Amino acid sequence: MRLGIYVHPWDLSDEGAQNVLPKLASNGIEFINLAVSYHSGRFFLPHNPRRKIYNAEEGVVYFDPSNMHFSNSRLQPMKSKYYSNMDILKEAVDTARDYSITVNAWTVCLHNAVFARDHRDLAVENMYGEADANFLCPVKSDTRKYVTSLISSLGTAYDIGEIELESAFFPSSFLHGSHHEVMGIRITSLMSYLLSTCFCQDCIANARGKGIDLKDARERAIKHVHDAIMSQAGITNPDAVNDSDLTTHLTESGFEDIISYKKSISRDLLLEYSDAANQSGTGISIVSTSKGLLGSGVDLDFPSGTINGLDLIAYFQNIPDITFDVATIRKKVPDHTSIRAGINLTYPYAYNPTRLQQSVNAALSEHADSIIFYNYGWATENIINELKNLR
Ligand SMILES: [Zn+2]
Repeated sequence: MRLGIYVHPWDLSDEGAQNVLPKLASNGIEFINLAVSYHSGRFFLPHNPRRKIYNAEEGVVYFDPSNMHFSNSRLQPMKSKYYSNMDILKEAVDTARDYSITVNAWTVCLHNAVFARDHRDLAVENMYGEADANFLCPVKSDTRKYVTSLISSLGTAYDIGEIELESAFFPSSFLHGSHHEVMGIRITSLMSYLLSTCFCQDCIANARGKGIDLKDARERAIKHVHDAIMSQAGITNPDAVNDSDLTTHLTESGFEDIISYKKSISRDLLLEYSDAANQSGTGISIVSTSKGLLGSGVDLDFPSGTINGLDLIAYFQNIPDITFDVATIRKKVPDHTSIRAGINLTYPYAYNPTRLQQSVNAALSEHADSIIFYNYGWATENIINELKNLR
């Protein structure tokens, strides 16, 4: 059983890589997935020696991107202002070597509100023609260039294990958790899928090239959402309303064309990203739920050689759900795909020793290849120190 853990750059910098990494090694950790490009957030950091409530910066990187890989890129990576005078990834890699820990680069790609604000022509365009405030369309040549530059830059300049891509395809859902985000209507999973689909000119043109009429799909999507809003008046008990399976619902509602379009684009992107990684001496992994990434377009039928592994988000309070989830993903992905089961160390998940052991056992009972804990900075120090007692 290989154990790894997600680490945020501020965890490593505030406490010192020379303190964090030996502690992790003595708890049996063999790899860390360090966020090297990350979005904003407001976090409680229970054992951070320098801060307790932290507001992370939006869309910045925590490594040195000043290399040739971005010379032809319209989107230039923004370095963290809070941690501007250091290269946290380099520090991690250099220190981790002494403890035989592999550092993977956990990389948030197209979820970037600063880019979406400053380059509105690159943002995802919804069915109403409005630019998204957080997410860039993965089809645009400038965004593709940015992601492949990120990959090449990380792979070439740092001795990392692999690059874990997050938000490198279409957005997976509509609701986002933005500041004061409020929707006064019922958002079904199908509506979420449609409302997060990009209908920009590049997507329409690309879809046409694949024999898909995305303009027509957009008209049907607008009608579907309108009808759904109108029909919510007929719901007598909101608690009893249950969404059917998304794919079935999409197919029954005549949106196979959008599924095919997103799948086809995501497959193209996966090959492109994987190629860029291989050329720079590394590989990629993907974060997913057992249902796949819903609106992102990534299906779970990964072609051989494209990804090193899949990081399964198996964050459940009900521990048998972890067993079920790992078994489900095992059946869905090709045999050659390595599965890392993600176990959440924060409350209310695996936050105490009993729940921790049970959660890990649940994942291993269905033959997860390794475990990745989420995450160092948000979990209590007590539970981090329990990792060494896992049997
Ligand atoms: Zn688009």
